[in-house]
Amino acid sequence: MEKKDCKILVDAMFGKLGKFLRILGFDTKIADNALKDPKVMQQAIRENRLLITRDEPFYITAKNHYEKEDLNEDKLIYIPHQDLEHQLAVFFKSMDIDPSEFKWKGPDIKPFDSNCTKCNSDLEKVPKQQIISEIPKGTSKRYNNYWRCTNPKCHHIYWIGTAHWEDIFKKIKAAVSLMDEVEI
Ligand SMILES: [Zn+2]
Repeated sequence: MEKKDCKILVDAMFGKLGKFLRILGFDTKIADNALKDPKVMQQAIRENRLLITRDEPFYITAKNHYEKEDLNEDKLIYIPHQDLEHQLAVFFKSMDIDPSEFKWKGPDIKPFDSNCTKCNSDLEKVPKQQIISEIPKGTSKRYNNYWRCTNPKCHHIYWIGTAHWEDIFKKIKAAVSLMDEVEI
């Protein structure tokens, strides 16, 4: 499946997972904490987003509604786990995704294929000179490749910091090793 075909809405309990899915390049919205469950479900249906929830009663209610309305139940995922690695494992397995097929390949990633973790918009590569006044001096000395969020209201700047990137890879690797054991 193509990532761009998969738009996601995670419930408010899944903020961390939501941001991680954005790093992986999925168009991911995180439900507004103030929204009641039926509204969250309606948003998922209206925007044709895969709904991911950790709330079992909400999942059951949504599943019944999807059945009744003849909606695609593949668009619902229940993930009971608290930790990100298990959550990712269930997500990959449910979606039949092979994480090794993702375009990004660690520090050599080209192009940077993520969405902005803050606002979910696309990123674009920017020349270092253009943003040098906006980043810490130590950073500009160490890194040469930068990306900026294309949303003018956000414009957050990204670079691939080694430790952070390694941590992302560790989490993916851990999730892959859990894919056999998690139930979907
Ligand atoms: Zn942004």
